[in-house]
Amino acid sequence: MSSPLSELQVSGLKGVGPKLAEKLAKLQLHSLLDLLFHLPLRYQDKTQLTQLSQCLPGSEGLIEAEILQSRFVGGRAPGLWVDCLSHDQTPVSLRFFHVNANQARFYQRGKRLRAFGECKLGMQGWEMMHPDCEVFSAEPPPLSPFLTPIYPTTEGLGQKTLQKLIKQACLQLEQYPLAEHLPRQLCDQWQLPGINEALLTLHQPPAGSDTGALSRVETPAQQRLIVEELFTHQLSLQRLRQSQQAIPAPAFNSQTSRGLHQLIANLPFQLTLAQQRVWQEISQDLAQARPMQRLVQGDVGSGKTVIAAMAAQVCAEQGYQVAIMAPTEILAEQHRQAMQAWLTPLGLQLTSLSGRHKPSERQQILAAIASGEAQVIVGTHALFQDSVVFKQLGLVIIDEQHRFGVHQRLALTQKNQTSDPNQSAWQPHQLTMTATPIPRTLAMAAYGDLDLSVIDELPPGRQAIDTAVLSNSKRYEVMEHLYQACQQGVQAYWVCPLIEESEQLNAQAAASTLAEFQQQWPDLKVGLIHGKLKPAEKEQLMADFKAQQLQVLVATTVIEVGVNVPNASLMIIENAERLGLAQLHQLRGRVGRGSKKSHCVLLYQAPLSETAKARLNIMRESQDGFVIAEEDLKIRGPGEVLGTRQTGGLSFRIADISRDQAWLTELQPAAHDWLETLQQSGDLAGLEARWLAHRLDYHHA
Ligand code: ADP
Ligand code: MG
Repeated sequence: MSSPLSELQVSGLKGVGPKLAEKLAKLQLHSLLDLLFHLPLRYQDKTQLTQLSQCLPGSEGLIEAEILQSRFVGGRAPGLWVDCLSHDQTPVSLRFFHVNANQARFYQRGKRLRAFGECKLGMQGWEMMHPDCEVFSAEPPPLSPFLTPIYPTTEGLGQKTLQKLIKQACLQLEQYPLAEHLPRQLCDQWQLPGINEALLTLHQPPAGSDTGALSRVETPAQQRLIVEELFTHQLSLQRLRQSQQAIPAPAFNSQTSRGLHQLIANLPFQLTLAQQRVWQEISQDLAQARPMQRLVQGDVGSGKTVIAAMAAQVCAEQGYQVAIMAPTEILAEQHRQAMQAWLTPLGLQLTSLSGRHKPSERQQILAAIASGEAQVIVGTHALFQDSVVFKQLGLVIIDEQHRFGVHQRLALTQKNQTSDPNQSAWQPHQLTMTATPIPRTLAMAAYGDLDLSVIDELPPGRQAIDTAVLSNSKRYEVMEHLYQACQQGVQAYWVCPLIEESEQLNAQAAASTLAEFQQQWPDLKVGLIHGKLKPAEKEQLMADFKAQQLQVLVATTVIEVGVNVPNASLMIIENAERLGLAQLHQLRGRVGRGSKKSHCVLLYQAPLSETAKARLNIMRESQDGFVIAEEDLKIRGPGEVLGTRQTGGLSFRIADISRDQAWLTELQPAAHDWLETLQQSGDLAGLEARWLAHRLDYHHA
């Protein structure tokens, strides 16, 4: 199925030694196929000579000229000036910096040269600042019939080298064309060229190509590749879903669940309409004899946990086990408390598993899980471990699912099969939850294998959080204000976010803020929480804060997800400009959870760029996670919004989810229609090898 070009290694190309191969490897360029999919960032038009007399100052141009004289100029910006007469008889001076006398000898009077670069109109006429330049002793060769591609490169790997290598790869492509894996019908429908034509056009656009359309990524050749990549991604997710659906799951009827009715009756609140609607969707899934694969999205505080508890109740009551997994110890502990409050009174056996048990304790817990005695098991990543085997796992609930990859999510669903090889294999239902409000298109692209439910309503009575954006120069006043507020019974978070990618440094920054508080206001009860603390220490701090033994919690972003202390009503976030909007929204969501009016102060380090200002203003103006996420997506792109860790490999080579949203809506149904055909013809395998080989997640899933 694979193309010979994927077998041909770059090291086999002319002029590629081990050193160069290493540089290429840095760009993930190993085979000729990789080279072909390494697309230009932009193009230079060297297909015709620019008439300087008609040139727009500041635009790029190619000139041919005869050298009149070259001279070194000293002073503040020393360099070599080469005065020429261009092909259209216009005087022009080329200026080069960092040129030694040896190099200067090339530019001899009477020689011809070709120079490409920005043409400026200076005091003494036309000038070009270090243009790309070639000097000829004889007649210059004919002009290139193609636009010159400019590729993304890396240090020590010259543009010319890359151009030459990719040119060689293009020659090979003509000899070994790639298989056409997209159905003819779709190409016609969408008016897309074939794969080989598309690649050749992009590496060698003929003279006269529409450079505007190329730079806007609107040409059919570019669209062809975008479509192929997104389509492959969609097909692959749907294939994954299908293979999951092929394995049966136990069907649970929630209509007849007495515990569920009791659980709802015991709640001190009424479910919101959105919660009820989402629950309907879940209970319909649970009633099927194939596994639920559902993602529940709900803004912070929208009440996802109780929905999880309801699903757990229905499943556990019918004799199956439920695993509930959270990304952090703090969050797992919070879930344990919630489940204990809701499910234990109904007679369910609850167990928690984290990474911090003593060996003997751990053995006991594992035994209870294996025997089925433990019915609802709350835990962290520890639940993934091989030693954890369930008797009969019927439901897996994963909170803050974006923290885990597709692979991890699926790993937990495989935990039954090993338990009893004689038992007919079944799949547990999967319920995943996220508070990261991902715009729908992005969710579709990232989690196309999941059905989506959205809790788009907050419980009544929540008050808006007032948000202020202040310069760091006001920091001391903010601290003082915080102290006053705490005297009135307010509890506050002070967040010192990511300074570097190092929790060590964050912890230090947070520690020095703690010291400032202690020095200024010794009577203020301040705690410090960061990722370097032991789980038990973190838990203790959270418990103290919840019990109002602490007035202020100085923290790193470890408190980002899920922490629930309803009495806390003041949130200060330092260096807010360094955080993504989604993350700020998550952090801010730690307040405004109770009946008190809440406030949030975003401190920034001046000066603030225009975009940064715009972003922080969005935070001030909106409290709707979806609005914020849409804006964030526009400004920063999907990789950043979801975070690389969170995307499960959602980094596309050519497609851009934000730019190419419109395609997604079209490709999802198309993938559905064509999946079977393409699977049978082997084209899907070909597409996956072409586009996803580096994303092993999907293959081993
Ligand atoms: P999240 O969706 O962020 O996980 P939680 O499940 O932690 O939100 O819910 C936040 C708070 O709101 C909890 O204290 C929860 O008990 C409460 N809650 C959930 N649903 C409702 C509701 N319908 N009415 C009032 N409060 C609710
Ligand atoms: Mg939650």
